[in-house]
Amino acid sequence: MMLSLPWLLAPLASPPTFVFVCQAAAKSIKRRASLQRRVPHLPYFFHFWVTKKAAPSVNRAAEAASLGAVTSIRSARPRAAPQSCDLVVVGGGIIGLAVAREALLREPRSSVVVLEREQAVALHQSSHNSGVIHAGIYYQPGSLKARLCVEGAAAMYKLCAELRVPTEPIGKLIIATSAAELPGLERLHERALANGVRVERLDHAELREIEPHASGIAALHSPDTGIVDYGAVCAALAEDVEARGGAVITGCEVEQIERSSGGARIVHAQGSTDCRGAIVCAGLQSDRLAQASGASADPRIVPFRGAYFALRRPELVRGLIYPVPDPALPFLGVHMTRRIGGDVVVGPTALPAATRGAARGGGERWSVSPADLLSTLSWPGSYRMAWHWRRQAPRELAWALSRSAYAREASRLVGGLTAVDLEPSFAGIRAQAVGRDGALIDDFAFSGEGRIVQLRNAPSPAATASLAIAAYCCDRLGPIDSAEPQ
Ligand SMILES: Cc1cc2nc3c(=O)[nH]c(=O)nc-3n(C[C@H](O)[C@H](O)[C@H](O)COP(=O)(O)OP(=O)(O)OC[C@H]3O[C@@H](n4cnc5c(N)ncnc54)[C@H](O)[C@@H]3O)c2cc1C
Repeated sequence: MMLSLPWLLAPLASPPTFVFVCQAAAKSIKRRASLQRRVPHLPYFFHFWVTKKAAPSVNRAAEAASLGAVTSIRSARPRAAPQSCDLVVVGGGIIGLAVAREALLREPRSSVVVLEREQAVALHQSSHNSGVIHAGIYYQPGSLKARLCVEGAAAMYKLCAELRVPTEPIGKLIIATSAAELPGLERLHERALANGVRVERLDHAELREIEPHASGIAALHSPDTGIVDYGAVCAALAEDVEARGGAVITGCEVEQIERSSGGARIVHAQGSTDCRGAIVCAGLQSDRLAQASGASADPRIVPFRGAYFALRRPELVRGLIYPVPDPALPFLGVHMTRRIGGDVVVGPTALPAATRGAARGGGERWSVSPADLLSTLSWPGSYRMAWHWRRQAPRELAWALSRSAYAREASRLVGGLTAVDLEPSFAGIRAQAVGRDGALIDDFAFSGEGRIVQLRNAPSPAATASLAIAAYCCDRLGPIDSAEPQ
């Protein structure tokens, strides 16, 4: 799942050297890419040098279509941040937009403002993900993730119907490929039932009826798992917030949130806004904003890059095909996802990234942000985490760097897949909160006091759960009316 400990330690010795080496590597990437395109079975070392930029993929088109929806929010309504309002929501990802809508539904006459630092909404995780509406199978019964995912999935289908965003409940198979995986499948079955999720146990013949090209000896079928383009959901949410009288203000980076007698003062790129309450949903920047506002530095966000391949033979996969996940890992393993629009992606990988996504989404594979890198390297939890996962690291590294290794892993689920079936596609960067003790925080996490709520950890399935998370944040803040007037 991560690079080895020496990799993490080396740049500490000389960060400028590391940055220089990365820049030199980026230049040589372009020269080597044409060779890689012509010979997809190049050995491991050469795969290392491939970039998305040099080898544009079919999925870029799908990504651009999705981003087309979200970028339209920017140019339509450039506007200035107000000096005061009832509620400020920081972050125009799916959760921030859902929070703004929820607040307006609860108190339609309140003034609600979303402040987003990018020039358009949802340019990061919310438009660079698998697009799955998770049913709630995997999560620890009783956890926030379990409850909010189940509630959020139902709410997401309802919202999409209301806002006319297409969804497809295409169903998902979680497949055991060997007898050794059957106990894990059984545990998932029990969890699903405990979480109130509809699943069905299938044998080999039954799973082949649903996915004729899938391998495996048994499966769980979740008919309520579906797909959606979350970028399109964000665009629709932003429109809806504005239609209800809220304001989505892009290009306005929030620098600090201070408690004030009337609620909170938000210091941002255009000055400041006084408000009765603030809900901070800043994704990959959530730890920085929390810290700048006086909250604990623990946990810190460590970015994990998740890259996808596009399947050149999408007819091999009808719906969603997942492995039985390693219960020790927070990620779901190499899976296959049919997307709205019909293409199929395989992925994502899970590798620590040297950037939290400077401009948008996943960025290029070797993007480096010195500040982000330093943030990871200066966090004691990074080293404890690296040590904890040292046995899994080589496997994840091989999958992230070698298309052949990735195809081998994917072929456990759909037999016969090889490297030529996979084409590099988009990537997203996950905001994974890591504790000082090195623990990967699994559940959704919040902090804040007074009239400020900070969302500190919102990994997958937070897009599915976004509407339920929004309701949870608004409950936590309490009615805006109850705050002192400005
Ligand atoms: C590879 C990948 C696959 C995933 N697959 C799924 C899936 O299939 N199903 C699912 O349910 N979930 C999935 N997820 C998780 C899901 O995408 C995220 O949990 C969700 O999008 C988080 O939403 P968000 O609004 O918190 O974050 P983001 O989308 O990252 O939004 C945060 C926003 O805050 C803004 N911001 C940051 N700092 C500031 C500041 N200082 N001032 C103003 N604005 C700021 C950012 O610019 C950004 O727009 C996946 C995630 C990844 C990365």
